[in-house]
Amino acid sequence: MLDLVIRGARIVDGTGNPWWPGDVGTQGDRIVALGDLTGASARGVIDAAGAVVAPGFIDLHTHADFTLPRFPRAEAMVRQGVTTQLVGNCGFSPFPGAPDRLDLLRAYAAFVDAGLSWEWRDAAGYAAALERLPLACNVALQVGHGAVRIAVMGFDDRPPSGAELDAMRRLVAEAFEQGVLALSTGLIYVPGSYARTDELVALAEVAARYGGFYSSHIRGEGGTLVPAVEEALEVGRRAGVAVQLSHHKASGRRNWGRVDVTLGMIDRARAAGQDVLADQYPYTAGSTTLAATVPAWAMQGGLDALLARLADPPTRRRIRAEMAGGAPAGREFEPDAIMISAVPPGPDSAYEGMMLAEIAAARGEDPVDAALGLLERHRGAVQMVVFSMSEDDVRRVMRHPAVAVASDGWTLAPEAGGRPHPRSYGTYARVLGRYVREAGVLRLEDAIRKMTSLPAQRLGRRDLGLIRPGCAADLVVFDPDRVADLATFQEPHRFCAGVSHVVVNGQVAIEDGRDTGARAGRVLRRTGARRSTD
Ligand SMILES: [Zn+2]
Repeated sequence: MLDLVIRGARIVDGTGNPWWPGDVGTQGDRIVALGDLTGASARGVIDAAGAVVAPGFIDLHTHADFTLPRFPRAEAMVRQGVTTQLVGNCGFSPFPGAPDRLDLLRAYAAFVDAGLSWEWRDAAGYAAALERLPLACNVALQVGHGAVRIAVMGFDDRPPSGAELDAMRRLVAEAFEQGVLALSTGLIYVPGSYARTDELVALAEVAARYGGFYSSHIRGEGGTLVPAVEEALEVGRRAGVAVQLSHHKASGRRNWGRVDVTLGMIDRARAAGQDVLADQYPYTAGSTTLAATVPAWAMQGGLDALLARLADPPTRRRIRAEMAGGAPAGREFEPDAIMISAVPPGPDSAYEGMMLAEIAAARGEDPVDAALGLLERHRGAVQMVVFSMSEDDVRRVMRHPAVAVASDGWTLAPEAGGRPHPRSYGTYARVLGRYVREAGVLRLEDAIRKMTSLPAQRLGRRDLGLIRPGCAADLVVFDPDRVADLATFQEPHRFCAGVSHVVVNGQVAIEDGRDTGARAGRVLRRTGARRSTD
C-alpha cells in the first residue's frame, strides 16, 4: 500500500527532459513508484489531471536563518513549491557566536534579524533550535565568513594574524563537523570586505576538506563586477573548492551588459575543469541593508563606530562626499533607484515604499543626509530595495545553463509588515509564469531543472531534485496555465497563484493551496556530520 499517489499529472522530472504523463507514488519519505499506478491502492490521492508535478524546489539562496524562528512555516516560499532552502548566505549566519562579541554579531545581522533568541553558540545548537520549530520545509545550513570573522576579530579592518587565521579555520571546521554544507562570504559587507583573497582561500580550503562548497556575494556587482568574479574563481582554484556565485547580476546602469563577460568567464572556467555555478532571482531590483551604501571604511568597528563617525562633523562630511560622488569601490548611490523597504515601527514607517529621492524632497534634505539620518535614527536597521538591473541582463543570466533559480529572500508572513522585496513570495512562480509561459525565455522543463536537480547537484544530494524511485518525496503540483507571482514592490505580502499541492518528505504541507500545519521539514546535514548532543 502506497502512502500517497499523485494521479494523471504531466511529470516534469527535474532532468530537463520533456514531460511525460504518469502517476507518482510515495511511501514514507521516498518516491517508490512511477508510471501507470491505476491499480495501486494508496492512503492518500491527489488528482493532478492537467497539472504538472515536479520535484520540490530547492532554493540555494535565502536568509531565512534569521526569520525561521519567527515564521517557521515559511509560507511565502513553501506555497510556491520550495521544499528545501539553503540559508547562511552572503557571509551572514547566526553562528558561531563568541560570548564577548555576540553584540557585534547581532548588530551585523540587525537588518535581517526577525527577533532571534540567540541562545545557541554554534551550528549544532542553532540546528537543534530549528528542529524544535514546526518547520514546513527542509533547511540546509552554511557558515558565514562575516560571522566567523566577527567571532575572532570583531570589526577590525586588517588581515588576521596567524593565530587569528587558525582560530577562524577552526570555527569553520567545527561548523562543517556539525553539518553545514558550505562557507559563504559577503564581500561588500563589513567585516567581509576587510578580508583579502588569501584569507578567503585559507578558509575555503577548510570547506574543500569537507567536500563543501564556497558561495560568494562577490566584492562588487557594479563597476568591479569582472574582477570580483575573477576573485571568486581564484578562491575556487586555489582552495580546490566548488564555487557558487550568488545572485548574479550587473548593478548600475553603466554596468549593464557586463554579464556577457562574466557568463563567458563561467563558461571558460568550466571548460578548464572548474566546478562553478551561479544563481539568480528573477527581478531587476535587489535588496539589502541601507548601510551597504556607506563607504566600507566608515563601517570599520561596526554600526556603533559608524554612528560615532556620523556624529563627528568632519568625518560626516567625508562620508557624505564619498557617497555623493559614487564610492571608490564602485558601489552606486542612486537615490532615485533606492526604495526604503522596512524601518522599525514609528514615524519613519511612513517612508516604507517611498524612493529615497522622494523622502529627501519631503524632508527638505539632501538624499545622502536622508539616508544617513535613517541609519542614525534606527541604528542601521533599515532595509532598501534597489532598482539597479536591466531586464535584458536578467534574461541573459536566466538562460545560462549553469545558473540556478534562487530567491535571496527570507521566510515571511503577511504579519511581518513593511515592504520587503517581493522575491520571497514570488521568485519561483514568477519564473514559471512570466518567464516561461508569457515571455518564453525558458522551456518549462529547463526552468524546473534550474529549480531542482541543478541546485541539488550543488548541495551534493543525489536523492533530491529528481522524480525517480528512491529520491525524496519532495513534490510540487501546479497549474502551468495559471501559476503566477502576485507579490509586487508596493504589495509584497501576497502569496502566489496556481500551486495546489506541496509534499515535503512524503507529508502534504500544502493541500489545495492551504497550509496543513504538517511538521514536515528537517535540517539537512552534511553526510558524516556529528549530531547535536543536546
Ligand atoms: Zn548577497
